[in-house]
Amino acid sequence: MTLQGKSALVTGSTSGIGLGVARALAAEGAHVMVNGFGDRDEIVDLCRSITAEYGVRAEYDDANLADPGGPAGLVARTRERLGGLDVLVNNAGIQHVAPIDEFPPSKWDAIIAVNLSAVFHTMKAAIPLMRARGWGRIINVASAHGLVASANKVAYVAAKHGVVGATKVAALEVANDGITVNAICPGWVLTPLVEHQLEERARGAGTDLESESEALLAEKQPMRQFTTPEAIGAMAVYLCSDAARTITGAPLSIDGGWVAQ
Ligand code: NAD
Repeated sequence: MTLQGKSALVTGSTSGIGLGVARALAAEGAHVMVNGFGDRDEIVDLCRSITAEYGVRAEYDDANLADPGGPAGLVARTRERLGGLDVLVNNAGIQHVAPIDEFPPSKWDAIIAVNLSAVFHTMKAAIPLMRARGWGRIINVASAHGLVASANKVAYVAAKHGVVGATKVAALEVANDGITVNAICPGWVLTPLVEHQLEERARGAGTDLESESEALLAEKQPMRQFTTPEAIGAMAVYLCSDAARTITGAPLSIDGGWVAQ
């Protein structure tokens, strides 16, 4: 197992991609800090199931990454509760879909806070800890929308482009400290974040979820299938491996050909 005895923080890991990544890292032997929103009892059960399945510690912290001090506090508590922080996966993200002239400023602020500023704050807190140990892996979950745009997603696209830029800067700064920093750029992954968009589309067009799923894929991806959270988890595990030690500062697409066009 490549991550035996290491400690990993995965933000936004109570559902979707983050949960897939947390499970994949745990399967490789990493102790994991689960973070995000949801029913506390269900999340505690989830942590117990990770421990039972993989024999690692799985702790839960409900830090709100949009709060001042939220991301740095989460990093500090991860270090205390897991005994270190070797792998940081910035995954938490939110979305709002509207044209710029109708886009609520409060949604802009919230998306920039969670999807972009939190990435800066967690990296700022984690890099000194990784430097002290001479090893670290930072993986920022960006998006195909970190590389290309779509209409009606101004805050999300701006934040994700920012994440790709921040990833490159961090990679340069830690290039000789045993730390790599990369961005994973997924296309469509069927998670609650996308399910909400499908529900809104179906409501607006008077259609059903199945036909909207097909339409969503057809609009953007030459390959008409969703990527799975498990596949993103496998990519994260690879980026943590010794074989990937010279991959850094890279936006890595896993998007069914979306940005190849
Ligand atoms: P999701 O809605 O299933 O999960 C989002 C997670 O973030 C949840 O655990 C949620 O509780 C947490 N979260 C939200 N706001 C938070 C906050 N303020 N503080 C702490 N946690 C918070 O969504 P997902 O699709 O799994 O998205 C995960 C990441 O992947 C996001 O950054 C998203 O932008 C990115 N992404 C998703 C897709 C896709 O198609 N689903 C594609 C490309 C990129």
